[in-house]
Amino acid sequence: MSQSPLARTVEQIASEFGISESDITQAIQSGKLLTSNSGGSGPAVVDEKQLSAWMLAYPPARISASLSGGPVVEDEDRMQLLAKLPYLARRLVDADYAALTLADDDGRISEMIVSGMTDGQVKSIGHPPVGRGVLGSLDKLGAPLRLGDISRHPRSTGFPDGHPDMRSMIGVGVSAVDGAGGTTLSARLYVTRVSGRTPFTAEDQELIEFLGEFASQALDIESLKRVETDLRVRAEEAEQAKSDFMSMVNHDLKNPVVGMQLALAAGENDPEYRDHQMTDDLGSSLELQSRLLDSLLDMARLGRTVPEIEIEDCYVIDLANSAVRRQGKVTREQDREILVDVPEDLPAVRCDPVQIGRVLDNLISNALKYSEGAVTITAESDSVTESISIRVVDGGIGIPADQVERIFEPFERITTINRPVEGLGLGLAICRKIVEAHGWKIDYIASPEGGSIFEVVAPYSS
Ligand code: ADP
Repeated sequence: MSQSPLARTVEQIASEFGISESDITQAIQSGKLLTSNSGGSGPAVVDEKQLSAWMLAYPPARISASLSGGPVVEDEDRMQLLAKLPYLARRLVDADYAALTLADDDGRISEMIVSGMTDGQVKSIGHPPVGRGVLGSLDKLGAPLRLGDISRHPRSTGFPDGHPDMRSMIGVGVSAVDGAGGTTLSARLYVTRVSGRTPFTAEDQELIEFLGEFASQALDIESLKRVETDLRVRAEEAEQAKSDFMSMVNHDLKNPVVGMQLALAAGENDPEYRDHQMTDDLGSSLELQSRLLDSLLDMARLGRTVPEIEIEDCYVIDLANSAVRRQGKVTREQDREILVDVPEDLPAVRCDPVQIGRVLDNLISNALKYSEGAVTITAESDSVTESISIRVVDGGIGIPADQVERIFEPFERITTINRPVEGLGLGLAICRKIVEAHGWKIDYIASPEGGSIFEVVAPYSS
């Protein structure tokens, strides 16, 4: 038994737009969609392969308005879907020509995709309807329309030379909610027949409305799919961050605890060790644990909010000297040197000295961790940009150029060093948060002599 035209139309639209046939049938049964009972030979139906081959051989012509400031539809997949519509519409109702007009945010038609015209005809149209003449003015109505003879319409201004001779016409709206920004795509789909052919019937109109409705739904589904993909990617990233966090807790936070357990076990068996060394070892493990926990808590706090900053006029020389004093214990114990090369007469900067102090602490502590020689703090004023660049310079291992982007991200550590270095990969992420909360900038510069330079740029206090 041969298939009814309706069944074939449903099947074709279902396969073309990825909507299940049962959804379409349900929509028809619930009265949400009109059906057409055009009967007879029915509309020409093509299968997906045939359609793709045809589209490849006869790509639809696109006519852009010279006024338009770029394509209305940026997404190529969406454009492919839209570009099929005029062709499908023409086949559905056996029209001579079909067109899809795309309006920009201001409702101006900025692009038209046509099917059924020769190159010459396309050229003669030149630009999409701009609001004069029947098509342009009717386009503003939005509602479906069917005209027996377009040239008899009171607003008809005739066709330009070489323009196809159109008589009977149907136009319907196609719209879509854009998943990304909530804006609506607004398009109109037209089919026309030339003079001498029978005008379109009410059934033809229903079929075209039907196609317009399904195109709208397909576009909405496509938008939702894009939102869903976006959400899925973000969920995967969150999952990855969670697993990175768990492995970090496993490795780095456990280290000091293991150190404490070892010290206690050694103390039990060795009274000499217990009396002279154990307390120191327990103390440094505890200190390390507390530093790691502090930066973890800092990051958790900063991750939620911008740090609260109390702004005042500060001088870089004071900030630098205080930071060096705070490193006193480490520099003494490790016999390290921090040089301060900061002119005393630099203009003041506006900052929270406690927070910027934490930035310097982190940068200096990194410089000490990832180098072996002296660390230098420099500052230089640029009177053109009215800013001061504060730099923490070391002659250590530096950071490979392709890894630099990562270092300001939480939990990112570069593994170019073969000895274990204490840290969670949070210091620079915290620095960036604080610096940006001041409206300042922080960057990494590869030192020409090898090693790292971290630069914080702060505007003069005005
Ligand atoms: P942490 O030092 O706790 O690992 P940071 O966020 O402070 O975390 O730094 C991230 C990574 O950047 C470090 O693991 C290290 O690989 C690299 N890094 C930071 N500062 C320096 C430096 N001065 N020299 C070389 N590498 C550095």
